[in-house]
Amino acid sequence: MPATIPGITILGATGSIGVSTLEVIAAQKDRFRVVALTANTQVDRLFQQCQAFEPKFAVMVDADAAQQLESKINRAGLEIQVLQGLDGLIEVATLAQTDHVMAAIVGGAGLLPSLAAAEAGKRVLLANKEALVMSGQLFMDAVQKNGAELLPIDSEHNAIFQCMPDHYCQGLAAVGVRKILLTGSGGPFRNTPFEELARVTPDQACAHPNWSMGRKISVDSATMMNKGLELIEACWLFDTSPDTIEIVVHPQSIIHSMVEYVDGSVLAQMGMPDMRTPIAHALAWPQRMESGVERLDFFACGQLDFQEPDYNRFPCLRLAEEAIRTGGTMPAILNAANEVAVQAFLDQKLPFTRIAVLIEKVMNSVDSRNADSLDIILEADARARDAASRMILAA
Ligand code: NDP
Repeated sequence: MPATIPGITILGATGSIGVSTLEVIAAQKDRFRVVALTANTQVDRLFQQCQAFEPKFAVMVDADAAQQLESKINRAGLEIQVLQGLDGLIEVATLAQTDHVMAAIVGGAGLLPSLAAAEAGKRVLLANKEALVMSGQLFMDAVQKNGAELLPIDSEHNAIFQCMPDHYCQGLAAVGVRKILLTGSGGPFRNTPFEELARVTPDQACAHPNWSMGRKISVDSATMMNKGLELIEACWLFDTSPDTIEIVVHPQSIIHSMVEYVDGSVLAQMGMPDMRTPIAHALAWPQRMESGVERLDFFACGQLDFQEPDYNRFPCLRLAEEAIRTGGTMPAILNAANEVAVQAFLDQKLPFTRIAVLIEKVMNSVDSRNADSLDIILEADARARDAASRMILAA
């Protein structure tokens, strides 16, 4: 048991990761204090969470939603301060009472609050991979300069972190690591006949075979852009290049990733596909605690399969690799174009197979610059979103 009970802010509390985090905390109530919860528009869900966890602060990004939440909180007699907008998110990501920040907002909207948490020297539990994809070096510098701790929540990166030796920050070669084996299930369309992909629906794309997740990451898994974003994320987290990272398709999602050493040893982290495991790992690190996740039953899980990724079926993998090799603001451009394309697909304005086509067009039309400052990154993000939106309208 820690000497003082750490306070936690959950950015994106009403989402899939936010809800799983609160489930883990609910079972460990004497180990954590919930200081702040945030959401975008889901008032009722945030209100229920406020009743259950009684944080000091609740943030709704949307102003009308913030007013509605405040009325509900006042009527219920709860002593919770309601904040709104990006300022509210940044305020609760940097509070003195907060030790841990779960960064679980989806997409580029999470960049500024996640970065603020790093700049405030917090333990940042990073689910919001888009923030790191967009701002790579800047984010890692903020972590280092301000004595923050960055712990990956993405199951693959959390697995890699668990399989890394101590002192891997000295460089992977220096500690005998030869390869990172980044596993991915291949998503719901791994075996779908190629000619049917143009007609798949948002609901089909969001029906992931192994994981239950928000709609944006579910579509990313279906295009395998999720694995592409994770490749970029792994390059930053483990200070390496795509040459050291091999993507391995593993449909059962039992192995969550592996680290290969120069002596031929391969360490794998395994478990049920349930995000409460990496969440509990990062919350308790360097200790361990119960997560509520079912035991992995080796006699029931059956055969484990491995395949090479199919770059023809999943062109987003190639685009993500190109983006990190180009460097500068290109990963931010890739990410922004992807967010716009995925939303258009979810709104049934873009066929599934046009997602990658659109991203490639945007990458070819928006120049990459050195990602030296936040302003430059945000400008690239805005230009890419604008270009993508115009291309969708013109199609
Ligand atoms: P969800 O869509 O389920 O939840 C997103 C959360 O972010 C919600 O709380 C939502 O609020 C909030 N939000 C949405 N838009 C904004 C905005 N513009 N400003 C502020 N808050 C906003 O997403 P997931 O939980 O699935 O994913 C969250 C992050 O974690 C993503 O980056 C994803 O890639 C990553 N991740 C998710 C995994 C999973 O299993 N789900 C696994 C690994 C990584 P509201 O509910 O009000 O809309």
